[in-house]
Amino acid sequence: MEEARKFSILVVDDEKSNILVLMDILKPEYTVYAATSGKSAIEMAEKHLPDIILLDIIMSDMDGYEVITELKACEKTHDIPVIFVSGLSSAGDEEKGLALGVADYITKPFSPAIVKLRLGNQIKLLAQKNIMKEKLKSREIMLAALNRAASALLKAGDKETFRDLLLEGMEIIGRSVDADCVEVWQNEKKNGELKAVLKHYWFSETGQIIKSDSPVSCFSYSAVPQWENILSKGGYIQGPVSGLSQEEQDFLGVFKIKTVLVIPTFIQNRFWGFCCIDDCRKSRNFTEDEVDILRSGSYMLANAINRHVLASAIHDAEIAEESNKAKTLFLANMSHEMRTPMNVIVGLTDLMLDEEDPTINLTDNLMKISTAGNTLLGLINDVLDISKIEAGKLELTPVKYDVPSLLNDIINLNSMRIENKPITFQLDISENLLHSLYGDDLRIKQIINNILSNAFKYTQQGTVILGLETEQQGDDVWLSVYVSDTGIGIREDDVQKLFTNYGQVDTRSNRMIEGTGLGLAITKRLAELMDGEITAQSEYGKGSVFRVRIKQGFVNETRVGPVVSENLRKFRYAEDKNTIRKKLVRADFSFAKVLVVDDMQNNLDVASALLGKYKMQVDCALNGQQALERIKAGQPKYNMVFMDHMMPGMDGIETVNTIRSLDSEYARKIPIIALTANAIQGMAEMFHANDFRVFYPNQ
Ligand code: ADP
Repeated sequence: MEEARKFSILVVDDEKSNILVLMDILKPEYTVYAATSGKSAIEMAEKHLPDIILLDIIMSDMDGYEVITELKACEKTHDIPVIFVSGLSSAGDEEKGLALGVADYITKPFSPAIVKLRLGNQIKLLAQKNIMKEKLKSREIMLAALNRAASALLKAGDKETFRDLLLEGMEIIGRSVDADCVEVWQNEKKNGELKAVLKHYWFSETGQIIKSDSPVSCFSYSAVPQWENILSKGGYIQGPVSGLSQEEQDFLGVFKIKTVLVIPTFIQNRFWGFCCIDDCRKSRNFTEDEVDILRSGSYMLANAINRHVLASAIHDAEIAEESNKAKTLFLANMSHEMRTPMNVIVGLTDLMLDEEDPTINLTDNLMKISTAGNTLLGLINDVLDISKIEAGKLELTPVKYDVPSLLNDIINLNSMRIENKPITFQLDISENLLHSLYGDDLRIKQIINNILSNAFKYTQQGTVILGLETEQQGDDVWLSVYVSDTGIGIREDDVQKLFTNYGQVDTRSNRMIEGTGLGLAITKRLAELMDGEITAQSEYGKGSVFRVRIKQGFVNETRVGPVVSENLRKFRYAEDKNTIRKKLVRADFSFAKVLVVDDMQNNLDVASALLGKYKMQVDCALNGQQALERIKAGQPKYNMVFMDHMMPGMDGIETVNTIRSLDSEYARKIPIIALTANAIQGMAEMFHANDFRVFYPNQ
């Protein structure tokens, strides 16, 4: 045990003999300082800060009253108890002394027993005062810690910082009582049994080492039945583990705890769980003050966690509601968008059927029907794309492609979108643009078409510029595209929302402009699939710039060169391509016999008409059974079968399996091509595994 500190006494008397007597009495028990004048008494008191001063009243320079007055006036010596030593003992002197703050009187001549007794009394009082002071100090430290923990925990609202701040709060609480571990356990009812689950914990350095292999994170109250009883009623468990019941020792032994404090937490009067504060190094008792303060700390921890759970739930609910609203709006928009071209198709066909001479306006009407059909197909493709994206099943098909040809197709398609608007369309490319790249050209066209078509859609007059740049980096090429317009622009707040699913912004002023709000969400995901990104800058009312940067594969050093780039800039390249396309001659496959299997007569009509253009001999089957019979008959012998996937009765896969199992070389070998709209990732493998020869995604 630590040796008790010796108290110190300052003896003040101008009579040396008195000092010697007092020294004799006090030396064995105390550290004694002596002063023979009032002045030196004050100096020594300030220097040594003795625990008690024995002060003679009558002295030649300053008397005892003057000395005590000075001692009490000085901050350093103010609290030192002073005992007057005097031959005087009239009531008036005592009164005067007490008024000046004298603690006691000893009268001369000294009786050693009385001196020791009087001093002993003062020392006892001093010791008590010191204990109180210590207590107050540690309480103050803990309260300050609690305050700091509270401010950390009150800030612990948002998702990102919650864990850090909670841990900070737990650490402050743990360290304030020199604990190794603070744990927060939350009650849960599982199959009717009350359990507590470890939600959060903080370990000190020693706690970490000691606790590293204690994996328990669920506590069943049935393991220590009295705990539920004590804790649920607001009681607590504390003290050295060695002093607890055998059941408690068995349970706490797993955690390697020497001293434990378990405090229940209540939220809205409900027994919510408990906080465990452990000391893994020494056995001790937590003081009542500590328990009180830790109780507040535990309550704050539980509250912070609860607040956080509530806030997250509200946040999730808000997001779900927002996305629900966006989806509802999207569906409403979508049906409107689909109805418009459908009305054109149905209206014009009805009109043409009604006409006595159906050739009147035939080409004109068919053009309109074709445009409406294409718009509809575009919408459906967007919906398919977004659903593939949401299912994480959108995949790229990279090929080697030519940049001028890509640009030509984009310009061709988009220059029609200028309509009659006074818009100048410019192409910003340099002759150093790489000529060939490796990537999914169809998806790149989709990306550029999306942003370019928006530029034309949302611009009434001015300039739209499409810019392209390639920058080689080893085996990769960064393809940077920008589209700038002088259109209606986008509000600053809306720029953030642009790339979210179903996010059509500024719907009021765009009401007359078609669109579903899917384009940019798809574009962003496509760019990300190509290791790239899309950004937008806009000034409301002035115009916008969209930039896309995507990674492509390097093919060779060939550049576009001055002639092609100049032609592209003048859109002449496009014209050349058009004439080439117009001269397209279809191959003659009149020798080929094909069987088309589909349960929809319309699909059969379209397929036979398209194949008929190549002069093929086309037979049709409306279901798997019919197809099987035709193959079994062996007359005619088909060169190829086009097979729908989804059909009532035998579906495409069953039909192919049955055909392959027929006992003829012809049935086993005949090429069968899958026709399906179900063109998602993994389907090609599935069809091949089922003995289809070719997979033709019907998008
Ligand atoms: P939409 O099919 O509706 O055009 P997008 O996803 O392509 O869908 O665009 C989302 C929204 O972003 C549009 O509804 C429009 O409000 C805004 N937007 C996109 N591009 C532009 C642009 N160039 N100028 C102004 N607004 C634009």
